[in-house]
Amino acid sequence: MNTVIRCGRLFTATGEDVICGATVVIENGRIAGVERGLASGPKGAEVIDASKYFVMPGMIDSHLHLMGANTNDFMRERFAVPSGLSLLRASRHIEALLGAGFTTVRDCGGLHALNLRRAIKEGVIPGPRIVAAGHVLTQTFGHADDHYLPIEWVDHRATGRGCTLVCDGVDECRKATRHALREGADFIKICTSGGIMSAFDTPEHVQFGIPEIEAVVASARDGLTFVASHAQNDTAIRNAILGGCRTVEHGFGIGDETIRLARERGTIFVPTLGLDRAIIDGGVAAGFDGWAVDKMISYWEIEIEHTRRLYESGVTMAIGSDFLGSPLSRMGQNARELSLLAHYCGLEPRDILIAATRNGAAACALEREIGTIEAGKSADLVIVDGDPLASVSILEDWAAIKGVLKEGKVASNRGL
Ligand SMILES: [Zn+2]
Repeated sequence: MNTVIRCGRLFTATGEDVICGATVVIENGRIAGVERGLASGPKGAEVIDASKYFVMPGMIDSHLHLMGANTNDFMRERFAVPSGLSLLRASRHIEALLGAGFTTVRDCGGLHALNLRRAIKEGVIPGPRIVAAGHVLTQTFGHADDHYLPIEWVDHRATGRGCTLVCDGVDECRKATRHALREGADFIKICTSGGIMSAFDTPEHVQFGIPEIEAVVASARDGLTFVASHAQNDTAIRNAILGGCRTVEHGFGIGDETIRLARERGTIFVPTLGLDRAIIDGGVAAGFDGWAVDKMISYWEIEIEHTRRLYESGVTMAIGSDFLGSPLSRMGQNARELSLLAHYCGLEPRDILIAATRNGAAACALEREIGTIEAGKSADLVIVDGDPLASVSILEDWAAIKGVLKEGKVASNRGL
């Protein structure tokens, strides 16, 4: 089955300039080629007329959690909401993501993503391509070891709740990695620092030693995959890079020497402003604990300042909203992240679009499959009524997302 898209303006994300008047030819879900000018394509091809619109690769949210949360009461969501119910909610959340132009998402912790991924692949439900971590590895008294709970309530292997695996020492780290892979992880998520939303640690806490990180990375590599690390201070980020992690999540608290190391090693950074800003603006009214909101406020300036420094230094950056589906972080509104990067950190629209497409593909280790519009890639495209290169905030407006194609099929159509 052939499809051609006649594009008013085409942004391929390969690094070339926008092409005014181009035709994308799609064969069996893949891009067969890009032609200059508005052509009609092979005989019998279905023609999508986007000659009034801007066409770009499908967006990639490289850091979110498909928790199926409906409220901001995460304790209740975790222990009182049946997992079947939150899974059903999450199945609606991913539909919203697809309609908003996100054709791939990388879930950085949460078990629903594993099942959603399979259901989407089977064609049971519509949704973006999901690259899922499943479990999150943490040390005892680590970021994902929910300190406010009795320790025996935390590890998923004991409780069947949450997604945390607590592991200390090389052997336990190896075993936890293999467990996550056994349960279907596409990649491994670890925490090498404390964080903001964890009650009794702070971003300055260093978690896991380099030998533990190396053990996780080696076991992940044996399973032909990679590691993403939550890291929010200089030592934690440096340990993650030296230990061999592919991506650093959040990534603030970084010093100049570590920025240089990140560039040298090609580490990909995924800053996450979306949820943090939403909690600062609306957390108190939404019932978040005061300590969490205060902590978020106290790190905000560092977060945006260091994201700006990473950008200016030329480190590869992808986009991550850290959204959960809850009222302050509704799935489908994830393009907010792009606007925040422009507004607070001064990123140029063109670089933001590259971060949200090509660099996101690299964060998923799918750079050969998705992220750009060129021959051989999966035909994942967004058709926009407006010019994201003038202002990326147009991508937040669902009415402007006229069409979304995933693997060559129209997944969303708003009056094309
Ligand atoms: Zn996260």
